[in-house]
Amino acid sequence: MKVVRTEAELRADLDESRHSGRSIGFVPTMGALHEGHLSLLRRAREDCDAVVLSIFVNPLQFGPGEDLSAYPRTEAKDLNLADRVGVDLAFVPSVDEMFPPGRSTTVSVGKVSEPLEGAARPGHFDAVATVVAKLFNQVRPQRAYFGEKDAQQVAVIEAMVVDLAFPVDVVVCPTVREPDGVAMSSRNAYLSSDDRARARVLWRALQRGRAVLVDGAGAQEAEDAMEETVRAEAGVTLDYARAVDPRTFGPPEAGADVRLVIAARVGSARLIDNVLVTA
Ligand code: AMP
Repeated sequence: MKVVRTEAELRADLDESRHSGRSIGFVPTMGALHEGHLSLLRRAREDCDAVVLSIFVNPLQFGPGEDLSAYPRTEAKDLNLADRVGVDLAFVPSVDEMFPPGRSTTVSVGKVSEPLEGAARPGHFDAVATVVAKLFNQVRPQRAYFGEKDAQQVAVIEAMVVDLAFPVDVVVCPTVREPDGVAMSSRNAYLSSDDRARARVLWRALQRGRAVLVDGAGAQEAEDAMEETVRAEAGVTLDYARAVDPRTFGPPEAGADVRLVIAARVGSARLIDNVLVTA
């Protein structure tokens, strides 16, 4: 596996792949790799001739008071794992390389980026869309792999790809969970063992919400059930528990698929999770 840190090196390497007609699969990450990230890389490995991983903790997508300085950075371990799953090229740019002084363009997707995570984290999705757009232009992959774990992020990227005609297929991979249901996340590293036990309430709430919908009740009842489940867990502060349209993240249509989405603060970590409930 080759490791490059500049756009110039990246282009030189990928132009060779392109000239020999190889398909490129791309997995953007912020590092601190876990099985969730590795599932995306393995899928890209199956689908594509060349697999490119990026590791970049994007400072723009952290709000004031968020966890930018504490965000786990484990580059050596990440590169080792990436090599073992067959990544061909790891792009690990510095902040100055990605965002040199004087840059001023922001990609703002609108609508789908406004509710829920967008409301809780102002500017977050603009920052995500901006860095992903730049990475797409640098890597120019045929396919890019994202996790359903961050379902609203997927919807934002899909809208950007359609609206701006990026020639890339977005491939969505299922959420990888710990045996007790907790979604794998780099932020789980912040949890004490008590908080790790408390974090299970997100998955329990989603399952309760799903059971309510499957029993034939509506979105409001599912939201109430999720909220009640989380509020009963001491030490967990609910941010939102909603039943939404899987594409717009607005109110769901009657009789159509619903995505249950949840965000809560557990100790010093803010955790999110979701499940799709098909009609
Ligand atoms: P991050 O490093 O947190 O920005 O995540 C990079 C990519 O990995 C994103 O597309 C995430 O949705 C995806 N991802 C993170 N956690 C999981 C998980 N538990 N299962 C599947 N994909 C995940």
